[in-house]
Amino acid sequence: AVAARATELSKVYGIGETQVVALDNVSVDFRQGEFTAIMGPSGSGKSTLMHCAAGLDTFSSGSVRIGDIELGSLKDKQLTQLRRDKIGFIFQAFNLLPTLTALENITLPMDIAGRKPDKAWLQNVVDMVGLKDRLSHRPTQLSGGQQQRVAVARALASQPEIIFGDEPTGNLDSRSGAEVLGFLRNSVRELGQTVVMVTHDPVAAAYADRVIFLADGRVVDEMLAPTADSVL
Ligand code: ADP
Ligand code: ADP
Repeated sequence: AVAARATELSKVYGIGETQVVALDNVSVDFRQGEFTAIMGPSGSGKSTLMHCAAGLDTFSSGSVRIGDIELGSLKDKQLTQLRRDKIGFIFQAFNLLPTLTALENITLPMDIAGRKPDKAWLQNVVDMVGLKDRLSHRPTQLSGGQQQRVAVARALASQPEIIFGDEPTGNLDSRSGAEVLGFLRNSVRELGQTVVMVTHDPVAAAYADRVIFLADGRVVDEMLAPTADSVL
């Protein structure tokens, strides 16, 4: 099944002489249970693609589908609802609320949406990211790697259709980064999660099932079973 699909997606910023074509007719599928990395030079459109595919940004033409739902058909309120229900986000900055415990941070998006996490699922997620003994800690009492694990658990908690990560290991040392990437890969392998990650880092991309390469707003290459050497 296709978890998300962009079809002939274009995004133009600005008007007149200052126009920038950030995405030029991009079509890409993100299949359920697949871990995709998006790579490419700075300015090639990686963040724009992620933001458009995740319903965080509007696009100029083309279409985006999450599950069976066309984003273009949604009003703002419905789009917000869809992001809450179907999409998990992991950013480079962990974006945790400092006054809340790890567990409260993990369940916050679902609390806001008025949904109850599936207990067995939540237990699974917390076990997987190794946070069992840290659930009542606040972010300042956790290492950077542990904080990002909280953010991974938060993204997984609602069993989203798809998780988007924007340089999710960009702020971590290589060991913590490897742990977080391992958890993302396990969530794909063991829980059937779909993950899309923007990264500069060949070592991070090697955790993915496939890599899509962008240049000048177009998909210029795609590689299955990437290794750190092969994507350099
Ligand atoms: P990447 O993530 O690969 O570095 P981006 O998607 O951030 O690339 O940017 C793609 C292109 O769009 C770049 O040329 C960038 O300068 C331009 N761009 C991105 N955001 C904006 C914006 N808010 N306004 C104008 N141009 C933008
Ligand atoms: P479905 O529509 O197939 O019921 P779910 O959203 O329940 O899908 O689950 C998505 C994936 O996560 C499936 O691969 C399912 O096996 C797995 N899954 C669901 N609940 C749990 C859980 N509590 N623990 C572990 N895996 C789960």
